[in-house]
Amino acid sequence: MQTTEPLRHNWTKEEIEAIYQKPLLELVYEAATVHRQWHKASEIQVCTLLSVKTGGCPEDCSYCGQAARYHTDIKVQALLPTETVIAHAKKAKDAGSSRFCMAAAWREVRNNRDFDRIIDMVKGVNELGLEVCCTLGMLTEEQALRLQEAGLHAYNHNLDTSEAYYDEIISTRKFDNRIKTIQNVRKAGITVCSGGIIGLGETAADRISMLLTLATMPKHPESVPVNALARVKGTPLENQPKVPIWDMVRMIATARIIMPASVVRLSAGRIEMTEEEQAWCFMAGANSIFTGERETLLVTPNPGVSEDMQMFQNLGLQPMVKEKEAVCTTI
Ligand code: SF4
Repeated sequence: MQTTEPLRHNWTKEEIEAIYQKPLLELVYEAATVHRQWHKASEIQVCTLLSVKTGGCPEDCSYCGQAARYHTDIKVQALLPTETVIAHAKKAKDAGSSRFCMAAAWREVRNNRDFDRIIDMVKGVNELGLEVCCTLGMLTEEQALRLQEAGLHAYNHNLDTSEAYYDEIISTRKFDNRIKTIQNVRKAGITVCSGGIIGLGETAADRISMLLTLATMPKHPESVPVNALARVKGTPLENQPKVPIWDMVRMIATARIIMPASVVRLSAGRIEMTEEEQAWCFMAGANSIFTGERETLLVTPNPGVSEDMQMFQNLGLQPMVKEKEAVCTTI
């Protein structure tokens, strides 16, 4: 399925803008064509995301209900016991997931007993034959290496938004901190999952700039999540307007064209989309979704697994087998 065409890492802002601004149907047609050259379009990777430590985060990401400083309804939960996490992973595997992502609401990883426990979780989930992914905040090269040795397949660290707009959204860290962690993950030989969120009040130029940063990395992230802001009550962005579906479709299609080998993940925001709207995203080149137990994606609502499987059936889609992503990541 993979083409022999080389991947480009020298995209310019003007080129990406020209793609992003194409007439919508032309853009979707081009993205769908590229998608079919690089992937089996009927296959969608199903990833399960579990929050292993929830809330109480010292960071101030304006979109996040887990930041301790915002008054949200989210219940703080200390790091889950390893056995509980493994039991969730088994259940996810039985439900058709090939990838299991563990998220902890930390600013950064510290070399303490909690990190030792994360290492045990990674080992345990890896032994189940699932691709293991973590999102734990900032990471040093040594910590990334420990995770890699434990069997970590991917590390999620989103850019969130453009470098220019970053300070409007988060003040407790810098865009460069994100890039540094991604570099540490790469150096340790772990695959990178990195994308962003739209609907934060950013402009089209910010979206294009974020895509430019991703597509000009020496190696494209193997996974590129595209999130629509999930508006959480109590956060500074709770009153942002809902992201128009065509904005999501544009982002996904542009990401698909400029990073053709990557898995593009339709992430947060699906709960507010109809099945037809999600179908547009798949047509534009999205080939991965998150499911979460208890029908949540971390702390925001998400469609349930049975609903997703019904959607797959309606659209003629099927869950991707685990090895597929490994094939697509040789970039
Ligand atoms: S997005 Fe992550 S780092 Fe930011 S406040 Fe939420 S949990 Fe903390």
